[in-house]
Amino acid sequence: MTPNTDRNQQLFDRAKALIPGGVNSPVRAFRAVGGTPRFVQRAQGPHFWDANGKRYIDYIGSWGPMILGHGHPAVVEAVQRAVLDGFSFGAPTEREVDLAQAIIDLVPSIEMVRLVSSGTEAAMSAIRLARGATGRSKLIKFEGCYHGHADALLVKAGSGLATFGNPTSAGVPPEVVQHTLVLEYNNIQQLEEAFALHGPELACLIIEPIAGNMNFVRASVPFMRRCRELCTQHGALLVFDEVMTGFRVALGGAQSIYARDIPGFAPDVTVLGKVIGGGMPLAAFGGKRAVMEMLAPLGPVYQAGTLSGNPVATACGLATLNEIRKPDFYDQLAAKTRSLATGLQAEADAQGVAFASDCEGGMFGFFLLPELPQNYPAVMKSDGARFNQLFHGLLDRGVYIAPALYEAGFVSSAHGDDDIAQTLQAAREVFAEGFGARVSGESAARP
Ligand SMILES: *Cc1c(COP(=O)(O)O)cnc(C)c1O
Repeated sequence: MTPNTDRNQQLFDRAKALIPGGVNSPVRAFRAVGGTPRFVQRAQGPHFWDANGKRYIDYIGSWGPMILGHGHPAVVEAVQRAVLDGFSFGAPTEREVDLAQAIIDLVPSIEMVRLVSSGTEAAMSAIRLARGATGRSKLIKFEGCYHGHADALLVKAGSGLATFGNPTSAGVPPEVVQHTLVLEYNNIQQLEEAFALHGPELACLIIEPIAGNMNFVRASVPFMRRCRELCTQHGALLVFDEVMTGFRVALGGAQSIYARDIPGFAPDVTVLGKVIGGGMPLAAFGGKRAVMEMLAPLGPVYQAGTLSGNPVATACGLATLNEIRKPDFYDQLAAKTRSLATGLQAEADAQGVAFASDCEGGMFGFFLLPELPQNYPAVMKSDGARFNQLFHGLLDRGVYIAPALYEAGFVSSAHGDDDIAQTLQAAREVFAEGFGARVSGESAARP
């Protein structure tokens, strides 16, 4: 398509003059993979259509929320009804209570919950709560884990043990991250040394239990067990950032998966987002009653929001949770996701392409590497140019995966066998095209 008939390009050119980079969240700009971002006109089920009217099978699903696919009738109806009752009141509503009840019923470690509007806000508030509840300042996070863009969490450059983090973004003063200790994911030895050095000063350890912001890397069971033991022993809170994995990998989140291997396992605080809003701005953090009661207006830890618990967003979230609680929902979703992951693996194997994949529930990841990486430095060994070739090959064939190799993928209950088959066919064609020979796009840099 020539630039002057490409509506995506026209819109992108307009957007770039008005919005920094033409987008309202950096990865959407396709800078890692090169090319023109697709401007979405509409979506239905597992598909969306771009500004040229071209259809794509959607494996992003708004980066996770659209677990039922787009435009699920029960969700659309609930939102339409809610809109007629009013958009926002700044006063409590019944649906907030119903959604809190649903979250508490489904995630046993959560005894009380507070609703907010984004994952960033939820993670930021959870950290403040952990600091307020313990009276301590320091926190541990892991390299490659993303917890939104609050200042104290915007550190991921591996700075080595006992060296506190350097900000990943301009505009974050070093003093603001001086209490953030960044460790290597899945490294038990570093974890033990960090607690030995700083145990009495640590407010919390925050972790993505399945790290979806470095594609798909699981915390090993022994590593997670040690995280729990050390937090308990030193009086630090274990904060699970399940913004991505919550209601995505299992009805009870990733914590329910670790609880199968570690008897009695539970985090102290859980951060939720994405699926709980079903595509509307909604997130939450919750945990033990004694900790949550530290929040204003009961306790000294301040937290608030004009649109928190928004009545339309809660309607969307509740309708979504009602669907995913139905029997067999996750078994079917997991089977579908597994058929995609194993199918891609088989196509790569058939063409001799180094490939490793993993999945859980409706979330998957793959690497153009011979085996699954266990931490961020190993993820960084991925070949960006080959990923970009795969990305554009799939995109040309109407398959939309995340435009960066550091991102997980998402399957919805609306994806059909025909969508999976079409995706595998597209991958077969790309892999067969002398995959790896052609180098296209810019080198992958995390935007
Ligand atoms: C998406 C995400 C966030 C941030 O959520 P926003 O709603 O984008 O602010 C935080 N943590 C994790 C694990 C996420 O995947």
